[in-house]
Amino acid sequence: MIAPDALKGYRGAARDVLTRFSVRVWSDVEMDTTRGKFTGIILPRSETADDRHIVLKLRTGYNIGVAVSTVKEILETGYREAHYKIPEREFPYDPAKPRVKLLGTGGTIASRLDYRTGAVIPAFSPGELYGSVPELADIGNLETEKLYGVFSENMGPEQWIGTARAIGREIEKGVDGIVIGHGTDTMHHTAAVLSFMVQNTPVPIVMVGSQRSSDRPSSDAAMNLICSTKVAAESDIAEVMVCMFGPTSDQYCLLHQGTRVRKMHSSYRSTFRTIGDVPIGQVSPDSIRTIRKDYRRRRKDRNVTIQAVFEPKVAIVQYYPNMQPDIIEALIDNGYKGIVIAGTGLGHVNKPLYPALRRAHDKGIALFMTVQTLWGYAQMYVYDTGRDLMDLGIVPAENMLPEVAYVKLGWTLAQTTDLAEVERIMLTSYAREITEREPHDGYLIFQAGAPWLQEHFRKFWK
Ligand code: ASP
Repeated sequence: MIAPDALKGYRGAARDVLTRFSVRVWSDVEMDTTRGKFTGIILPRSETADDRHIVLKLRTGYNIGVAVSTVKEILETGYREAHYKIPEREFPYDPAKPRVKLLGTGGTIASRLDYRTGAVIPAFSPGELYGSVPELADIGNLETEKLYGVFSENMGPEQWIGTARAIGREIEKGVDGIVIGHGTDTMHHTAAVLSFMVQNTPVPIVMVGSQRSSDRPSSDAAMNLICSTKVAAESDIAEVMVCMFGPTSDQYCLLHQGTRVRKMHSSYRSTFRTIGDVPIGQVSPDSIRTIRKDYRRRRKDRNVTIQAVFEPKVAIVQYYPNMQPDIIEALIDNGYKGIVIAGTGLGHVNKPLYPALRRAHDKGIALFMTVQTLWGYAQMYVYDTGRDLMDLGIVPAENMLPEVAYVKLGWTLAQTTDLAEVERIMLTSYAREITEREPHDGYLIFQAGAPWLQEHFRKFWK
């Protein structure tokens, strides 16, 4: 007889099947179904989910829902309760080591399984962190603080401002480096906005996340945390950066400038790429190797400027063929103060949008053009379309990435509504968001695009 709480969350048909085969939540099982055989662990079921599926964690780490109607037999091969509980340990203090502050905002890196619902939820505790990645203590003294516990689609102006202020506080307190745990989905938006809100940082500010939660064997959480903490503690790079998994072979992480980085793959661990530039460097648990040398250097002073402001009435419009002007009209009528367009090619949209864009300009809305190709510059003097759009008052934003131009415009419009000043700020490069030229070899060679290329170029990296 199975104890009722051994079937956490399971009801109805699913509960009946588990009871029939005498298996429980956390049982290791071999399941024979009409769709084939599956081997894994039975996970708790969300209390709000249907009663027709059993959730199985496969050996690969993926969770699947098996329809109870397909189950022929379930055999329990083992049982270990709460596989995914992270052991808590007190972080050891070593006065000789640098002081690193880890600010948590949420995302997969701060996630673990919720035993009640079976879902991956944000959680964050210093003890858990050290319990799961003890190597961190070899690098520095880590203090942690949970600022937020959200998946990153829920980060926005309020959290950006709060994070910038927290960074300012920590720098004044004297930390040697800051790590910010963040969901990967919008990490590049936050990295960009912090590059503007936090100016002249004397210490490294390193954003980190993970694509796969730490309960999965292929998790990138530990590697990313070790690399980012190492950069925060030891590097001389005083910039806002993103430090994430590099090649798929677990060799190193890539270190990206906060304004030149983008999440480029929805599920690979190797997802962040520097766009329009080469990464700042490569980081492994034993070494930091810089690729670019023109970064700002670490300083002893605490002269950081925090400009934590944001005008929320700003939008990005990703142009697509056949876009109707009512999209632009809606932004005008709803009081938007700035629009960043991600145009086609060198920075174009179709003619039917022109009257709406003219009206937007006449209303004093700041209009900037970026390119949806991501690499390259808005060059609006090449074709008639570009020239027409510039006549309508749209300003090409050089090679600023669309998301970067978006957060920069929100930050700028919160400081001034004088359009000439807005343009001046937008076209001044604060943190490499605009560069004079883009390297032709940025993507594949330095970013682990192809292993054979890596091997080839290793010879020249001495
Ligand atoms: N959806 C998650 C987030 O961005 C994904 C992650 O953390 O990797 O918060």
